[in-house]
Parts: sequence; C-alpha cells; structure tokens
Amino acid sequence: MIFHSVNELIGHTPLLELSLPVPNGSRILAKLEYLNPGGSIKDRLGQVLIKHGIMNGAIIPGKTTIIEPTAGNTGIGIALAALQYNLPVKLVVPAKFSAEKQALMRALGAEVINTPTKAGMQGATAKALELANKIPGAYVPNQFVNPLNPIAYQRTLGPEILADLGAEPLTAFVAGAGTGGTFAGTAKTLQAVVTPLYTVAVEPEGSILNGGSEHPHRTEGIGVEAIPPFFADVKIDEVQTISDQAAFSAVKQLAREQGLLVGSSSGAALVASMKVAEKLPANSTIVTIFPDGSDRYLSEGIYD
Ligand code: PMP
Repeated sequence: MIFHSVNELIGHTPLLELSLPVPNGSRILAKLEYLNPGGSIKDRLGQVLIKHGIMNGAIIPGKTTIIEPTAGNTGIGIALAALQYNLPVKLVVPAKFSAEKQALMRALGAEVINTPTKAGMQGATAKALELANKIPGAYVPNQFVNPLNPIAYQRTLGPEILADLGAEPLTAFVAGAGTGGTFAGTAKTLQAVVTPLYTVAVEPEGSILNGGSEHPHRTEGIGVEAIPPFFADVKIDEVQTISDQAAFSAVKQLAREQGLLVGSSSGAALVASMKVAEKLPANSTIVTIFPDGSDRYLSEGIYD
C-alpha cells in the first residue's frame, strides 16, 4: 500500500500484549502510540484541532497563526497538522520540558516560546492567550479546555481499541492524565460498549487528583495542576498515583525485557496496570496506553 501524506499515517497503532508475569494470571495490552509519525498520542489531537478549526472558519489556510500552550507532544502534533495548510505556529512551552521535544517542534517549522518552569502550564496558557491578543485573527485551540480534546480520542483511539480487541473481553482501562483528554475520551467510548469496565486514571506524585499536594515531578506528560474539566462526565473508578522512581524503573524494564523504547508516562501506566491487576478478578484483560517514546528524553537521562 502506498500512502500519500504523513497525516494518513496517524493512528491505527498496534495493541501489544506484554510478555511479563501479571498478578492473578491477567494480561496487559498496551496501545503503542509512540509509533505515530510525530512520535506520540498527540498527533491524533493535532489533526482534529486543525481540521476542525478550518471547517468552522476559525482557521484560514495559509494565514491564521496557531498559538498553543504545550508540554511538547501536542505542539509536535499541531505543528505536523499545520504543515499541510501552511499555517504559522507558535508553541508556548515551560522551560523544563525536554530539549528534544522542543527541537522537534522547531524542525516542523514552529516557533517555540519558553515560559518559566515555576509558572507551570497555567503560566504557559496565560502567555499563549497574551500573545494571541497581539496577533489579529490568531487562534488558540487550548487543549486544556477544548471539548475537541476528549472527542479526538473518543472518535479514534476508543474505536480502534474495540476493533483491535474484536471478540476478546475487556476488564479494565488504565491511562495517564495530563489534560485528561486521552483518558476521558477513550474511557467514554469503551464504557458505552463494555459493561462493567473498571477505569483507572494515572498521575505522578506531585499531581493533585488523589488529593496530594502539587510539587515538581520527573514523569513527563502526565500530572495535573487542576482537575481537568473533561472528567466531569466520565466514570473514574480509581486514580493511581505513581512515583517517579517506580515509573522510571518500569521504563528500563520495558526496554530490557520487552524491547519497548517508551517514555516515563508509559512506565507509570505499566506500574498502575500491575497494581490494578492485583485487585481485579483472575484472568482479567487490562488495556493501557503507551503515549510516547524514550528517544525524546535521552538528554534528561531517562535510562541513567
Ligand atoms: N503522556 C505523555 C508523554 C503526554 O505528552 C501526554 C499529554 N500531555 C499524556 C501522557 C497525557 O495525555 P492527556 O493530555 O490526553 O491526558
């Protein structure tokens, strides 16, 4: 089969059964989202945000400046989607996020504007809105509040998982939460078809979903400073809070034992899935998401 655009290569990632001992004879199936062309789950969102903006007239091809606050992967996804319409892109990224992700955004033609790490994603969002005020007709998709964020996953990732499973049973869905779009959108699709389904959101220590206090963490891409608005209408049975140490140790284990070169939010997803398997009935099937790859974190010593 011959493809005609990089955009056609987004999605339809493999669902891989991990070959490791899981408690209670259960199995963990991971959706390998790092195999998207921009290297992460957020390629799906970039496509939807840009295409929808064009459809509703908020984005004019060749003209509208796109401005977005991002930890990196959404920026890469948006920059990739914007290329086909020749749109200028400005991405506002807190300084702490990996140099590789910022280099990839620039490689795709985007301008990267750093905000202080201490100001968090809220600081980056404020800066993006401030910049947009100065550029006539600029468009800020704002993934943190845009309802298209969960919808992107509800319409792509969720149905793909159901199709991948075919007639196989599904017991639980486990996914990390940054904006919460991946978890909320995918869980909605799965919950509509699979009952009962046990749903678990994953956060690092330093995120507030389980009532903990906010503090810096090394696990990149997940963790929230405020409860995502997308969680208002989705059932969450449990939040698993995973330490950086456990997530990074799982990242090394996944490389050495499975040949999977994934980022720290994937490590956290694996640790959470193993914990969930301990309390689920025997022979359960757990589906989780591996959102991106480790190569964008080498400068941060992901394997050190
Ligand atoms: N893992 C990584 C590496 C990410 O970049 C993101 C997006 N911030 C997530 C997980 C979480 O995705 P979401 O924003 O949809 O909750």
